[in-house]
Amino acid sequence: MRERTVTVIGLGPMGQAMANAFLDRGYRVTVWNRTASRADALVARGAALAVSAEAAVAANELVVLSLTDYQAMYEILEPAVAALAGRVLVNLSSDTPERARDAARWAADHGAQHLTGGVQAAPPGIGQPGSFTFYSGPKDVFEAHQEALEVLTATDYRGEDPGLAALFYQLQMDVFWTTVLSWLHAVAVADAHGIAADEILPYAANLLKGLPDFLAFTAPRLVAGEHPGDVDRLSMGLASVEHVVRTTTDAGVDAALPTALLEIFRRGVAAGRAGDSATSLVEVLKAAR
Ligand code: NDP
Repeated sequence: MRERTVTVIGLGPMGQAMANAFLDRGYRVTVWNRTASRADALVARGAALAVSAEAAVAANELVVLSLTDYQAMYEILEPAVAALAGRVLVNLSSDTPERARDAARWAADHGAQHLTGGVQAAPPGIGQPGSFTFYSGPKDVFEAHQEALEVLTATDYRGEDPGLAALFYQLQMDVFWTTVLSWLHAVAVADAHGIAADEILPYAANLLKGLPDFLAFTAPRLVAGEHPGDVDRLSMGLASVEHVVRTTTDAGVDAALPTALLEIFRRGVAAGRAGDSATSLVEVLKAAR
């Protein structure tokens, strides 16, 4: 059997979890990180610390990148381009679809293949069941390395366009960060009234538990472009958001977040959608294109 080998470049919390998962599964792992000391625990477990990024790339065909963004990849790999020919770069760093497409072209210019990945797991979920990663790029390259990639998480291949995995990842982050910030905002307002996060947790959690049903209810209507105003009307939504903003300012809490919502609701009403469902705001958002 062919020896299973991989290089991991970038040893933040995510890259470390990935290198550990490969070690757990018996891979021969070469690592490199700008801050070399982050490799210490991995080296103690048997990973090889490359003397340079170029040596790390030269060591193995499969090169996993786990970096803050794609700019970090260029900073690391520009001095190492001589080693890129014949390599498969699996870029699991977060960035935009356009930057992923640029990176795929850049890799091809240096004789390397590029797979884009968007990891849907926190570091403790790496190597565990239940987590997955979006991938896009050349299908044959993905399939040739799927077994190794599934050491990290399950895989969800989105298509040949290198931007697709980044796009699906950013769509998830869009929902994630706005939801996290709304939670923190509610916690700040509660705190102004002497109510702690753990007291409102069951109510917030219950509300979020109902959201999948709500999303499922709206998705076909959004696909059809229908916002009939049958179960809710935008005018009601506007009044509701005004109440949230006022509750926030009365509590002396930063109102930037609900004020941004309020501005979008007001634009919807100004566009003549007061009697439509609040989902009609998607048309307001699309109109900015
Ligand atoms: P970090 O930002 O903590 O670490 C990223 C790595 O990038 C480090 O090894 C760091 O090196 C390196 N790096 C950053 N800038 C440069 C640069 N200019 N030159 C060289 N090296 C650089 O990220 P994480 O490990 O948490 O995550 C990695 C990727 O995975 C990110 O894109 C993140 O969005 C994504 N992700 C993370 C999740 C998480 O929960 N952590 C969840 C899902 C995805 P150094 O050690 O020297 O600073």
